[in-house]
Amino acid sequence: MIERAQALAALSENEFDVVVVGGGITGAGVALDAASRGYSVALLERADFASGTSSRSSKLVHGGLRYLQNFDLGLVREALLERQLMVALAPHLVHPLPLVVPAFDGARPDRLMGVGLNLYDVMSVDRDRLRSRRGDSESWSPERHRVISGEEVLELLPALGSREPTSGYLFYDCQTDDVRLVLTILGEAERFGAVCANRAQALNLIEREGRACGVRLLDGESGEEFDVRAANIVNATGVWADRLTDESELPRIRPSRGTHVILRHEDLPLIGGAILPAGSGRTIFALPWLGRTLVGTTDRDYEGELDHVRPSSDDVDYLLEAVNEFFGTAFAPHDLAGAYAGVRPLISSGDPKKSVDISRKAELYEAASGMLTITGGKLTTWRRMAKLTVDRLVQRDSRDAPSRTHEIPLGQAIDADELPRVESVPAESYAALAGRYGYAAHDVLALASKRGELAQPIVPGLPDLLAEVVLAVRREQARSVGDIFLRRTRLGLLAARELPVERVADVLARELVWNPERMEREIERFAVEADAEGIRPG
Ligand SMILES: Cc1cc2nc3c(=O)[nH]c(=O)nc-3n(C[C@H](O)[C@H](O)[C@H](O)COP(=O)(O)OP(=O)(O)OC[C@H]3O[C@@H](n4cnc5c(N)ncnc54)[C@H](O)[C@@H]3O)c2cc1C
Repeated sequence: MIERAQALAALSENEFDVVVVGGGITGAGVALDAASRGYSVALLERADFASGTSSRSSKLVHGGLRYLQNFDLGLVREALLERQLMVALAPHLVHPLPLVVPAFDGARPDRLMGVGLNLYDVMSVDRDRLRSRRGDSESWSPERHRVISGEEVLELLPALGSREPTSGYLFYDCQTDDVRLVLTILGEAERFGAVCANRAQALNLIEREGRACGVRLLDGESGEEFDVRAANIVNATGVWADRLTDESELPRIRPSRGTHVILRHEDLPLIGGAILPAGSGRTIFALPWLGRTLVGTTDRDYEGELDHVRPSSDDVDYLLEAVNEFFGTAFAPHDLAGAYAGVRPLISSGDPKKSVDISRKAELYEAASGMLTITGGKLTTWRRMAKLTVDRLVQRDSRDAPSRTHEIPLGQAIDADELPRVESVPAESYAALAGRYGYAAHDVLALASKRGELAQPIVPGLPDLLAEVVLAVRREQARSVGDIFLRRTRLGLLAARELPVERVADVLARELVWNPERMEREIERFAVEADAEGIRPG
């Protein structure tokens, strides 16, 4: 991505076809779709890219087996097709994950679940794609679900050792790193000319004769304000969508909090994911993710502040109770490697349904000023949301410019074995780098080779390298310790209790030219942020 200062200069000097407000998955998708259809695009993110809900998901690119229960068949079908497309467009970032629903004590796997999985299988088949890609052995298509033996269950879920499962269902969904998906899409949008800046808040709309023609921007670093002029405004601010203007045509958001906790792989070893009961007919996931085990999620109405959403101790206890019951373990909050929470941007329809039962369908709203608001939806369906939005712009402009995002590869996938070996870089870092950056992993390694001190892992035993901190500043507008730990790497979630804050601040200080006082302030700021985010439960 271009440097932030350069981006801000471009934002103040030019007039754009489209200003996208919000740098989560939805805004990133709209920026890519619009830019690749020939629009000039600006994207403004108030805090850091993906710092809202898009860094706080369950990391699944999935149809959502659960939504079948609500008969949300259209949504599930759409998401399943997107899942398959994402694996083709970003194979390094979105990969298939085996999931198991185990059965115990000689019981047969639950029949109702089998019916749901049958439907899931049928709905995930994309006949058009099968026809057009026949013979393309590279492209992933999910195997049908099947019943597996107790031994096979244990191979995928070694953590179940003490429970002796007797059989289980095996099926597939896909998994990603949500932040990296956002950053990759933003990178592609920039290739098509979009200008993106973080710490750039849209304060309000600028209107002329009742039509929106720009936004007032607040530069979160300098405190300066200026106008960004544009013919079209897209509000993609997720849970903040009803706050950008006071227009009564905006959707009312009903935030629902979801909490996740993370355990060390050694404590709860999983090769595939597990679906486990969590009381009152609900289920949760336990998933292998970036070398750890991720457990979630809860789903409860939320009324607290949106800028920092903490996992509540009730939610943490609820998740641990389900894990302990299912795996026969005795984890307490202080055993957790980390935790995080996020809020779903659910659209309130005014009815008093529980948040679990509210549809995840996306909605597009058009205000009298012409501003488009796109919200709801899921990480998985970002491309469809973007297309829906930009189709409307194209229609308004009477242009003939179909969406192309179904054929734009996201990042350049590579095989980790192709990467050059660099002295001191741990063996496990190569696969992690290839998975995170694709071809750009070469740049991380080139830097690590030039400056040997940057070849070291940030946290001993985990694959992320200090060289990534430098490149995050130079290439991805990282500006703070939190940006590095919570988003450019995910160490703030995976190793929340062992973060080498000073070490990372020191590398940042050199790149961002911080004096010792500034460095101290930034370290202190991260302590406050980590506390507000509740990443270290108990
Ligand atoms: C617990 C949980 C688990 C989930 N799991 C999954 C899953 O596994 N798979 C899946 O497909 N989906 C999942 N989802 C849903 C998915 O994460 C969200 O639908 C998606 O991330 C929403 O993205 P967004 O871009 O609309 O919102 P956000 O990511 O919140 O982005 C909005 C952005 O707008 C910015 N902003 C706000 N106001 C302004 C302003 N005035 N100026 C500039 N910027 C502004 C914010 O800072 C924010 O970064 C999950 C959601 C939750 C909460």
